[in-house]
Amino acid sequence: MKQLVLASGNAGKLKELNALLAPLGIEVLPQSAFHVSEAEEPHPTFVENALAKARHASRATGLPALADDSGLCVSALGGAPGVMSARFAGEPKSDARNNSLLLERLDGASDRRARFVCTLALVHHADDPLPLIATGEWHGEILAEARGQSGFGYDPLFYVPDLDQTAAELAPELKNILSHRGAAFRQLLEKLRAELA
Ligand code: IMP
Repeated sequence: MKQLVLASGNAGKLKELNALLAPLGIEVLPQSAFHVSEAEEPHPTFVENALAKARHASRATGLPALADDSGLCVSALGGAPGVMSARFAGEPKSDARNNSLLLERLDGASDRRARFVCTLALVHHADDPLPLIATGEWHGEILAEARGQSGFGYDPLFYVPDLDQTAAELAPELKNILSHRGAAFRQLLEKLRAELA
């Protein structure tokens, strides 16, 4: 495997992945270079959605493909917003409205545990029966009010007790290392290394 399509339009993710995978001799290309249409993400789990996106990109390009799906799972809400994280408060998607709705749903709740989850799926070809799957988690608690200016999404409400900071108060480089995404990427890299060894 020398080239891999990334099933995402995010330029930051593309750059980060290229840096991670270059030492393995793998070049990561954006799916926009192949005019891949947007994939459906109709499933209730991160792994199913990540796989659907990866298979879609691989089918359209004939190349191996990597996709991610991520979100916030709150214990007291049975894992919601989960795969609906981006659109928790409906369309058009809005971080501010999502955060307000989360606070409303947790009003008075004593159990405020939550985790960020990121699943990566790499298919070697569209119908690959043996995709590489990696899932990273980042555990924290939902505060009653926002703190911090950096990051995106639910970061200002996601408090990490060990650090006494929210994800939006952390330096971005530190967040990248500690986060669900960082953990999933490291896990995937290990699996890829094992496969190429
Ligand atoms: P995506 O599937 O990676 O685009 O993420 C889905 C949604 O999950 C985002 O729109 C955010 O609402 C939420 N999310 C995922 N990762 C993070 C994070 O690191 N910080 C804050 N929110 C996140």
